[in-house]
Amino acid sequence: VYNFSSGPATLPLTVLEKVQAELVDWGGSGMSVMEMSHRGDDFVGIAERAEATLRRILDVPDTYRVLFLQGGATAQFAMVPMNLMRGGSADFIDTGIWSQKAMTEAARYGRVRLAAGGPDYATRVPAAGSIEIDPAASYLHYTPNETIGGVEFPYIPDSGDVPLVADMSSTLLSRPLDVSRFGLIYAGAQKNVGPSGLTLVIVHEDLLGDPLPGTPTVFDYRVYAENASMYNTPPTFAWYVAGEVFAWIEAEGGLPAIGERNRRKAAKLYAALDGTEFYRTAVAQDSRSWMNVTFTLAETALDTEFLRGADAAGLKSLKGHRSVGGMRASLYNAMPEAGVDALVDYMKEFERIRG
Ligand code: PLP
Repeated sequence: VYNFSSGPATLPLTVLEKVQAELVDWGGSGMSVMEMSHRGDDFVGIAERAEATLRRILDVPDTYRVLFLQGGATAQFAMVPMNLMRGGSADFIDTGIWSQKAMTEAARYGRVRLAAGGPDYATRVPAAGSIEIDPAASYLHYTPNETIGGVEFPYIPDSGDVPLVADMSSTLLSRPLDVSRFGLIYAGAQKNVGPSGLTLVIVHEDLLGDPLPGTPTVFDYRVYAENASMYNTPPTFAWYVAGEVFAWIEAEGGLPAIGERNRRKAAKLYAALDGTEFYRTAVAQDSRSWMNVTFTLAETALDTEFLRGADAAGLKSLKGHRSVGGMRASLYNAMPEAGVDALVDYMKEFERIRG
């Protein structure tokens, strides 16, 4: 089947098969990775190789630390302000539900100021020139790809001297990225990285230390940086699978090749949507997500039939988020082009019969 779920999402089949082959006996150790001490040589090797591969494929500068955490991106909505909101206020760009969740949580720790976006920006990103940053802000937070709305920034905001913080949960590793533009990047793993339970944080070392008073030790980035993300027991199995996903990306030709494939996949689906009145997408041309393509049927009464037929044809999880309705096709890295072709064929056939 082709799984268009927004997450947890499809993993590359070759990765799943390798994990299956190694499940009960990793590398002749006689143990599953799940059973290994995180401080033993075998797991430390797995962990170090995963980080090294990620650094290679994403070209992470040496001045950045890569942290392998738990708690999902949602925990980062709190952990970011706990660690970085030292000046008492932070700026936000609001482009939808995930931006708003990050803002609501940050407001528990200090002042949340809107630098751009807002209720009118659920289907388009604000123009680069319209972002008004408070130079005294502790950081500027934005959501480069809004997973629910399917709205994606085609540019990286210029935040000047204010550190830029990005929730990249649904776009990290979808294409090459200039990490040096960011103060901190975070992502729940369960889209392009690996299984849920793992959260990646890539943070400039200058931002480590000095969290807000009362910040629990287990939420202090510096503690993870100083302990190779092993202050306590890390999500070992998810970390191992993520390492296999990073190796798969490298073997596929790295992020330039993955990015080109993702660009083609999205272009095919948007072309199909643009070519008819039967399907519609509300998202502005320059803000269309490569990863989460949202669309509706002109006749919403046909939604259920469309989804039922898709499911029967092996095209799974196309229902849009409950808050926006309609359809959403998530096209993460592990979705092959053949999956997009199958979806487009199904859409054309459905339109032929019911249009
Ligand atoms: N931010 C974005 C952009 C997301 O897409 C998601 C989940 O889909 C989250 C945050 C929440 O992530 P988690 O469930 O890992 O806490």
